[in-house]
Amino acid sequence: ATQETLLEVNNIEVIYNSVILVLKGVSLKVPKGGITALLGGNGAGKTTTLKAISNLLRSERGEVTKGAITYRGERVQDMAPADLVKKGVIQVMEGRHCFEHLTVEENLLTGAYTRTDGKAAIAADLEMVYNYFPRLRERRKSQAGYTSGGEQQMVAIGRALMSRPETILLDEPSMGLAPQLVEQIFEIVKSVNEHEGVTFLLAEQNTNVALRFAHYGYILESGRVVMDGPAAELRENPDVKEFYLGVS
Ligand code: ATP
Repeated sequence: ATQETLLEVNNIEVIYNSVILVLKGVSLKVPKGGITALLGGNGAGKTTTLKAISNLLRSERGEVTKGAITYRGERVQDMAPADLVKKGVIQVMEGRHCFEHLTVEENLLTGAYTRTDGKAAIAADLEMVYNYFPRLRERRKSQAGYTSGGEQQMVAIGRALMSRPETILLDEPSMGLAPQLVEQIFEIVKSVNEHEGVTFLLAEQNTNVALRFAHYGYILESGRVVMDGPAAELRENPDVKEFYLGVS
């Protein structure tokens, strides 16, 4: 089957504060319907890559100084984040960022704010989110600030789903979560990918879990892609095993 490329990052450089070169020519392709993982250690440039795509660098005094980012062939790197959401691309930021004073359900509904397809469709999608995350249904009336880290990650992903995205950029879903919860979150990502057809680009330090769930992986080191390939091949690669999977 031919796989259409949705998102393409072509040789981008990113500089912070006009001086700090953080991405030194990063290229990657995200095929429609896939789960693509962006891997690498702390500070490798994963978050910067996602923020470059969704135009969230400006508030951090960062800018793309070279290269191109396209979505369905259209240049998106100067597009306001809200316009990118309308194109179907939404980012779930690292650290989850719930509205702490709103309930779980109110948080989920904020994800639907750009939609114009009416209350019934939104209610149906809320039901869809609760089916993927039964825990959120139980907690729907709880104030988000008082839910656990795992529940907040679920809220963040669920809120993104409420915008009916074509593509989700997911930053470090495993961060700060116990292994069993990480497993659970990735299972849900896989299920959403398979059943809703949502495309994922996920940044993840946990190479082990990411390569079990992703179809394709890119490994970043110091702002450069040093290796890429189908996840199954990366899992068997001796260097990946030694440096990223902790086995040799
Ligand atoms: P992490 O898992 O820590 O998020 P990462 O791979 O996502 O790691 P980035 O957050 O993209 O890495 O950071 C890449 C590099 O850019 C790091 O050296 C970091 O110190 C630097 N950096 C990030 N944000 C800024 C900023 N606002 N100003 C200056 N340097 C920054």
